[in-house]
Amino acid sequence: MNLEPTSQYDVRMLIDGTWVDSDDRTTVTNPYDESAVGSVPVATEQQVTDAVDAAHRASEESTLSAYERYELLYATAERLEDDAEEMARLVTSEQGKPLSESRVEVDRAVQTLRLSGEEAKRQFGEYVPMDAQKGFARSHAFTQHEPLGVVAAITPFNFPLNLMVHKVGPALAAGNAVVGKPALKTPLCAVTLFEYLDEACAEVDAPDGLVNVVTARGSTIGDVFLSHDAVEAISFTGSTAVGKYLAENSGMRELTLELGGNDPTIVWDDTDIDRAAAQVVGGACANAGQVCNSVERIIVPEHIEREVVEALVEHATSLTVGDPFDDDTDVAAMVDDDQAEKVVELFEATVDAGATVECGGNYDGRLFEPTVLSGVTPEMPAAKEEVFGPLLPVIAVENFEEALTEANNTNYGLEAGLFTQDLDRAKRAADEIDAGGVNINTVSGFRADHMPYGGFKDSGVGKEGIKYAVEHFSREKLVGFHAG
Ligand code: NAD
Repeated sequence: MNLEPTSQYDVRMLIDGTWVDSDDRTTVTNPYDESAVGSVPVATEQQVTDAVDAAHRASEESTLSAYERYELLYATAERLEDDAEEMARLVTSEQGKPLSESRVEVDRAVQTLRLSGEEAKRQFGEYVPMDAQKGFARSHAFTQHEPLGVVAAITPFNFPLNLMVHKVGPALAAGNAVVGKPALKTPLCAVTLFEYLDEACAEVDAPDGLVNVVTARGSTIGDVFLSHDAVEAISFTGSTAVGKYLAENSGMRELTLELGGNDPTIVWDDTDIDRAAAQVVGGACANAGQVCNSVERIIVPEHIEREVVEALVEHATSLTVGDPFDDDTDVAAMVDDDQAEKVVELFEATVDAGATVECGGNYDGRLFEPTVLSGVTPEMPAAKEEVFGPLLPVIAVENFEEALTEANNTNYGLEAGLFTQDLDRAKRAADEIDAGGVNINTVSGFRADHMPYGGFKDSGVGKEGIKYAVEHFSREKLVGFHAG
């Protein structure tokens, strides 16, 4: 990595093919020990506007073929793969997740770039039989896909690399120009990704401005993207509150919103409880619970509540909390004090409301022990809200009907999980749970990067997953040929 000017991760923004600074810079700190990792400029409104202008011009000038877009994305993947270990260390340094999880994130980002490159070559249209219309026997038509123009990609702190790739990869595959905007808590790996993209763009002779990244405050960026006519699509992953603001103000733009969740996982009595408990604990505690589709609520039939709770306790207490760079660490620090304080508040309010702490419950600054809570009822705060921390609230129900009602007892609808060996039960859950994905025999937190992914209700609109995002970032045009 060779970004100038001063230290390795004192980086700048890429606007119109040039790495630029601003008068205001902000330091990026390590969530675990609060050491400085690097710094980024804080973009002015004018710089964000300049980035959109540059992207607009580049989108009109670009003549990259599908094959060249594939080459661009593959070349970016190669660079990322070559620097994988360094990038994983950067993800851990700025975001705080254990290094083993960061290695998985980087590997997924490499695959997501390659999937995007492949998809660039698969933008097939459709032959439309115009002779199906009376009187048009000699007419023909087909459809073709065209890029939208400028795609704005706004990402949150929790998967700072792969979530940016999930937007930028498909947007470029479809032939668009992009303006990336990572979270200011975790911008460094995204800026580094744009360094690779910039180098790969030069190899295929892409115009300056095809890829831009601005490190801006959320309060600056939203309104610039919303008021600039050239922004044809906003792809946002983050909180429901910001997502709703964008939805209310986005006018005729294409919008993808990947928002919050309060995902249920049902563990039924016909499953291997130990296996289910191991996965539930993993699904609730990965990235210290800061995962949009993490297991937020565990729903069990009351006659096996004790057995499930004991299995959860066994797995939760086997996890090691600590330094994300230690090989033994399973659960590391939450991203900042605000996030940690919110988890403590929800935990204490749930205990005050009558829940029992089965294990954990201790915290020290941003470190929070995996905590199993039993006797949780649907109105308690840890059941009602997205916690985004390593809490495992167990809710007991009388029958499967009630389990499904409880699973749907939320404004969110991102993903859900069900452990069962019974086909009818699985089918019923798939049909009746109001969420963008229902995972049988695994947890809500399952995501493969090529699958369609996106929530219902307050969890968002539109789908990610490469093929689906490419469709979303394209428009379909009908070309008709009629007898002359
Ligand atoms: P956030 O909404 O605070 O920030 C997300 C991004 O939006 C950041 O880059 C931020 O700077 C920017 N932003 C803030 N205000 C803005 C505005 N007015 N206009 C435009 N952009 C603005 O979210 P966060 O705390 O970084 O992330 C956590 C949330 O993200 C959780 O709710 C989580 O569930 C959700 N999330 C969802 C998914 C998914 O795929 N559904 C994935 C990861 C995270």
